Amino acid sequence: MSTQLIEEAARRLVAAGDCAPRLARDPVNEPMVRNWTEALGDANPAYPEVAPPAMVQVWTMLGLGGQRPADDPLGAMTAILDEAGYTSVVATDCAQTYHRYLRPGEHLSVRSRLTDVVGPKRTALGEGWFVTTVSTWSVGAEPVAEMMFRVLKFRPPDPPPPPRDVLRPTVNRDTEFFWAGLAEGELRVQRCGDCGALRHPPGPMCPRCGATNPSYVVASGDGEVYSFVVHHHPPVPGRSLPFVVALVELTEGVRVLGELRDVDPAEVRVGLPVRIVFDRIDDELTLPAWGLR
Ligand code: ZN
Repeated sequence: MSTQLIEEAARRLVAAGDCAPRLARDPVNEPMVRNWTEALGDANPAYPEVAPPAMVQVWTMLGLGGQRPADDPLGAMTAILDEAGYTSVVATDCAQTYHRYLRPGEHLSVRSRLTDVVGPKRTALGEGWFVTTVSTWSVGAEPVAEMMFRVLKFRPPDPPPPPRDVLRPTVNRDTEFFWAGLAEGELRVQRCGDCGALRHPPGPMCPRCGATNPSYVVASGDGEVYSFVVHHHPPVPGRSLPFVVALVELTEGVRVLGELRDVDPAEVRVGLPVRIVFDRIDDELTLPAWGLR
């Protein structure tokens, strides 16, 4: 719905003026006054002989399951803005004016009118429209109180995408460099500080010479499928079935496991050329995966 259609609907509702008076379910009564003043801790001895003025809205509440009348202008404007995508609401202003005290036995009615609809405005909550109504309470023909009430009907921002549900690796002293590398877009392969042999997965000791002083090199990220499985069952968090798990031999000579993405499982074969894909899950975790090259 366009801005123009919203403005036209608002003009029509403003021009319609007051809705029909709606009679309160009950007259002003002492039990309700007592409950209210007790709940608010208001010990003013003037009550309940007269009702607290700030209670005025209480007398004409719709009640549990009550329906707004069809000609209620706030209800009508709310429906129009809901339809246009401005589905959230927050009250922004309320000012009440009291002309006199109400006494038990007086039976109130309320009518309301739309006074203006302003927008669309950019707000911290989102783009929206300020909708202002004025309600008037009367006893018979005598107005006894008024309320200006303004709400912001706004379009809620899109929620952030939910975090991806993946199996998270355990990171330890031996493997921390590997995961830190992935986060920086590097495929790091452990290298013996003594004999220079490359090895993967990372470990504390060189399987060739027994040295415990590893460093690492950054691999090119290119390799080919050495072996693979097509996983059909059971389901795995963050994966859609079936998926391919490939053991890839890097051009540097070591083998690294990862999911092979965007490929028909029937097309996968030993020797298929692949390249590393850095799958950033969040600030803490990037997983290695493979794609065709
Ligand atoms: Zn070594």
